[in-house]
Amino acid sequence: MALGPHVRDDFPLLQRHIHGRRLVYLDSAATSQKPRAVLDALLRYYQESNANVHRGIYRIAEEATAAYEAARATVAAFLGAGRPEEVVFTRGTTEALNLVAATWGRTRVGPGDEIVLTEMEHHSNIVPWQLVAAERGARLRYVPVTDEGRLDLEAFDRLLGPRTRIVAVTHQSNVLGTVNPIPRIAERAHAAGAVVVVDAAQSVPHQPVDVRALGADFLAFSGHKMLGPTGTGGLWARYELLEAMPPYHGGGEMIALVEPDRSTYKAPPHKFEAGTPNIADSIALGAAVDYLRAIGLEAVAAHERELTAYTLERLREVPGVRVLGPLDLRDRGGAISFTMDVAHPHDVAQVLDGEGIAVRAGHHCAQLLHRRFGLAASARASLHLYNTTDDIDALVAGLYLVRRVFGRAPHPAADPR
Ligand code: PLP
Repeated sequence: MALGPHVRDDFPLLQRHIHGRRLVYLDSAATSQKPRAVLDALLRYYQESNANVHRGIYRIAEEATAAYEAARATVAAFLGAGRPEEVVFTRGTTEALNLVAATWGRTRVGPGDEIVLTEMEHHSNIVPWQLVAAERGARLRYVPVTDEGRLDLEAFDRLLGPRTRIVAVTHQSNVLGTVNPIPRIAERAHAAGAVVVVDAAQSVPHQPVDVRALGADFLAFSGHKMLGPTGTGGLWARYELLEAMPPYHGGGEMIALVEPDRSTYKAPPHKFEAGTPNIADSIALGAAVDYLRAIGLEAVAAHERELTAYTLERLREVPGVRVLGPLDLRDRGGAISFTMDVAHPHDVAQVLDGEGIAVRAGHHCAQLLHRRFGLAASARASLHLYNTTDDIDALVAGLYLVRRVFGRAPHPAADPR
């Protein structure tokens, strides 16, 4: 396995033991662990350059501003953005999607207009659009998901129409692992006159993402899932769109001139970054991107593909395990959700925790998707560059333990189908 064992030592937290066992961390879709380079960048900033940005005219304030803007340029280049000013730092994907909904959405969507979403969206790519639709009298339409866990693209084509203003779609499902064909979706959406908002929370950390090649208009991502600190992430958007959008939050640093009744605003991205930004963490996000780029996203993706194949193969051996989502590695990533016939997902996660194995159990902020599959919850193992086949072997041994603990009789609430 190309990466796992070689990079594991870079992550201090992965050296921990839980309940006397080596920690097996399989919840990177929720948040990733952080390499020492990121922790060092945080400490270095606070020890050497801590000052507010874009205001001081003294040495350390200039250093802080330069480091903050350098991080933006690093992230922009990582995403294939045309210019650094196309990246607005936010607290993560949720805030980025809310920003688009509250600015572009509220000003461009009117009564009777339509916003197309999909059944596999995370709640953060549903609820902001529900708020817009309720306020503006617009209608939400959902692209159905097939039994194999893919988007029904023919149904998508049929949903597009003259009233479609926005298509908001996830690049990679946090539950099914499905990687959606964004260029194809964007082409059809643009032909219908809609803009395309991509939730890239689960793709940017795991595969090369080029915003221009995707054909997206807006793309949201979370820094904390890509080895950066919590409270980081951003929105990429075509610069013309950012220029045309009203501000999101009002306050210091986003204005050009303030008068009693009105203000004028700075150019993007500063128009969207009111108040003191998350300086230290954004700088450390730049360090996370440097770390990922040094390894190479192609190598990360190849490692995760190999490990996903291994995981799917090993899970097939365990009686009573049902994996959700596509089994074809060409259109899936390393978020692997499953149910067990003998135990509820929460019980699965609890037994695994006793073995030092961290997986997620619940609806993973995707209730519509779980309902689509007749489920209230699932267990999820999600991979990153530091995971190894040893981690998966531990998971599978843990699932055999679940079978021993809960017996062979299927649990009535485990999987209602
Ligand atoms: N979208 C997807 C697909 C996600 O997996 C997540 C996080 O789990 C989010 C959006 C929300 O990200 P954040 O909590 O970082 O805002």
